[in-house]
Amino acid sequence: MAIASQAATRAEQSFADAAATLKTLGGRRYISCTDAHIGEMRRLVLNARTVEEIGYIEDGALKCTSWGVEHRTITEMPADFLIGNDVKAWVDVVPLVTGGNPTSLVRVGPYNALVDPGRLVELLADQGAAVVIKAPNGAVTATLNTPDTDLAHRLAGQTSRGVLDGNIYAVYEKAGWTAIAISSTNGLFGLFTHEHWLFVAFGGFATLVIIGLVVRMSRKRLSPLGELAIAVREREFVVHYQPIVELRSGLCVGAEALVRWQRPDGVLVRPDLFIPLAEQSGLIRPITDQVIESVGRELGPLLNQHPSLHVAINFCAEDFKTGRVLETVGERLGACGIANEQIWLEATERGLMDIEEARKTIGEARRRGYSVAIDDFGTGYSSLQYLQSLPLDALKIDKSFVDAINRQTATSAVIAHIIEMAKALNLAIIAEGVETREQADYLIEHGVTFCQGWYYAKPMPAEEFITYVQASLRLQDSGVVMLNRAMA
Ligand code: C2E
Ligand code: CA
Ligand code: CA
Repeated sequence: MAIASQAATRAEQSFADAAATLKTLGGRRYISCTDAHIGEMRRLVLNARTVEEIGYIEDGALKCTSWGVEHRTITEMPADFLIGNDVKAWVDVVPLVTGGNPTSLVRVGPYNALVDPGRLVELLADQGAAVVIKAPNGAVTATLNTPDTDLAHRLAGQTSRGVLDGNIYAVYEKAGWTAIAISSTNGLFGLFTHEHWLFVAFGGFATLVIIGLVVRMSRKRLSPLGELAIAVREREFVVHYQPIVELRSGLCVGAEALVRWQRPDGVLVRPDLFIPLAEQSGLIRPITDQVIESVGRELGPLLNQHPSLHVAINFCAEDFKTGRVLETVGERLGACGIANEQIWLEATERGLMDIEEARKTIGEARRRGYSVAIDDFGTGYSSLQYLQSLPLDALKIDKSFVDAINRQTATSAVIAHIIEMAKALNLAIIAEGVETREQADYLIEHGVTFCQGWYYAKPMPAEEFITYVQASLRLQDSGVVMLNRAMA
């Protein structure tokens, strides 16, 4: 009964929360679909646990959502049920913007909210019972642990608990919402004879496996944004470090921190698969914060001990626009005893698009002793003039130009120009994605100082990186430095 009552309460609560969120939004005045308006929708989506998306409707068209500006005409179907007299609700709606699994929809005034039914019951997953949740119109809005639908159907009229066909069940109703919890464990008691202990052990294991599967399945049902929000909450991000190498000596001078999303099943997700969504949704902020914390915790002692080493951290457009990040870096890394001079901030051209803001943040960063590098240089639209107007320290040459070295393609001529330009502007140069000896030789011949790439080392977990650096430092101390061929 406890599970059924929790499930019904949660279902009712999440629709009520969504309606309250929309009422808050409706109570404020916004010029439709401006950055401020969309920004507020995003903030509310991130703060309301069960709201996946908010949309704004005007003159029969969806004008914008928490994802951004839209323009789609919509045909409104009669509501499946009402909550009070001003809130309409539908179940089984396919999101217009993101496609994806059907969810429920709540509408208040010109706003609607997608409510994820998976989220409603997800938190009950480890209770073991199968659950069916029905909306006030009788439609199934969520299920958990694959209930026997036939049985659930027969139980829907009941309002109590009991035993039916070897199943314990409980039905609970709240404000029109019905939750039916079904557990078949009673049928198992008869087996508790000689193999009692073996059974307990196996049963425990099987339960763990089933809970794992259910948690996985219920997560699968979430939208990518929903999953990412959970990952942020559960702190599922790990940082790998790719050594930055001085080309001439082959010695390690520092590392770039590269984030990975470690799924509960251990799978590592590449950053390019979730960073764009994180940037769009604003989740990049807590992710950046988690990266900064990891860097402090994992590399703090090493950087403290070796002031010549540095760590480079990637920042997105928003971080650079607001300058917020300087405070976080200062607080978190300063507390670990890392000197500002050991920290490089990397921003892409895209991240520096708003030149006035960028100039301000870069200026302030350098005043505090950080170095600032422009990442993926050459892949955006920036001109030389643009580059000249920013007070940068370093330029990272994108892998695509390094790939083209000695390939006799149109791109292969570009790298020489980029190198000349960086030298003329007095910028340090770091070449990315060096995979062959030949590429390294070319870069040395053209006066490039630093590089990173699989030819030297792949990104690796902190512990491995520390071992790698220590070996590199020992080589340096003993003077046995392997000069690259181009030097010899
Ligand atoms: P990036 O900053 O250009 O990072 C370099 C990428 O090239 C990394 O991919 C690295 O693993 C990869 N790479 C390095 N050497 C080689 C090589 O020799 N061969 C090949 N094939 N690849 C090489 P990764 O780790 O997948 O990161 C992809 C991008 O995700 C990064 O590109 C960066 O833009 C973004 N990113 C990573 N971590 C963060 C973060 O903490 N915050 C933000 N905002 N973005 C991040
Ligand atoms: Ca980078
Ligand atoms: Ca890059």
